[in-house]
Amino acid sequence: MTQSIGFLGLGNMGGPMAAKLVEAGHRVTGYDLVPEVLRQARTAGVGPAESAADAVRDADVVITMLPAGRHVLAAYADLLPAARPGTLFVDCSTIDVADARAAHDLAVRAGHRAVDAPVSGGVPGATAGTLTFMAGAGEAEFAAAGPVLEAMGARIVHCGPSGAGQAAKICNNMILGISMIAVSEAFVLGESLGLSHQALFDVASTASGQCWALTSNCPVPGPVPASPANRDYRAGFAAALMAKDLGLAAGAVEAAGLPVELGVRAAQLYADFAAADGAGLDFSAIITTIREGGK
Ligand code: NAD
Repeated sequence: MTQSIGFLGLGNMGGPMAAKLVEAGHRVTGYDLVPEVLRQARTAGVGPAESAADAVRDADVVITMLPAGRHVLAAYADLLPAARPGTLFVDCSTIDVADARAAHDLAVRAGHRAVDAPVSGGVPGATAGTLTFMAGAGEAEFAAAGPVLEAMGARIVHCGPSGAGQAAKICNNMILGISMIAVSEAFVLGESLGLSHQALFDVASTASGQCWALTSNCPVPGPVPASPANRDYRAGFAAALMAKDLGLAAGAVEAAGLPVELGVRAAQLYADFAAADGAGLDFSAIITTIREGGK
């Protein structure tokens, strides 16, 4: 069924996601603060709006793909009064769980429905329409969001009520961030013990050290030809985004008073790496700081 969709935030992720919605036959009206970004979206069939409010006036569904929670909450202040009652708001940005719940409550108080649906899969997944969506919503809202999410993704997981999608996202990325550091430390230790990268890979990739950070995104060149290590760590999944996601996880750990030490330490390591010129590199380049730290 063709739906009328308002799309806010047409950047690296939002641009290709909106294009997938157009391809699926939906009517997409978009808005971005940057005129050049809006112009590019237009070439993909997105109807450009003059303002955020104009993008959502006739929408059945509103999708936001914005940098952080403060942008989502600020945007909702303009969008909620402009939308028709009962509009379905789907926030796909990666934001704090508390902000996601606040956005949900604002939408519901304004007479709308809301879903948090952050994604995994990066720009390649957005371009191919193969993203994984992690949704936080009631059953009815989740069902209503289904056709739109299916046009942009290959896997859609209902994680629980409002905020559960964001919770799943930061927990998953905490596993990924820590495991990349574990794999990197093992390679650096192996180097100092005279062990070749290939030998460590051949053992660990088929033994109990096996994990995605090793077998798909290996931080040393050679064993996994497609990993960013083979192309000077050109992202990939940028270290700045890993630092952002782990910062959200560390904030949630602190708020809950949990003894989660490695997640908090990993957040600090990626933040330092991003601040020291690593921001645009793939997060697996963290291995270079582990090597250099020992010299
Ligand atoms: P981006 O910076 O490329 O795009 C964000 C866009 O939002 C920008 O074009 C900006 O101009 C626009 N924007 C900001 N405020 C706005 C407003 N009030 N109204 C309209 N437009 C506004 O960022 P991105 O890489 O597309 O990431 C978007 C979100 O997706 C982030 O929350 C990020 O953490 C998450 N994410 C990114 C990736 C990735 O690989 N890039 C992967 C998974 C999740």
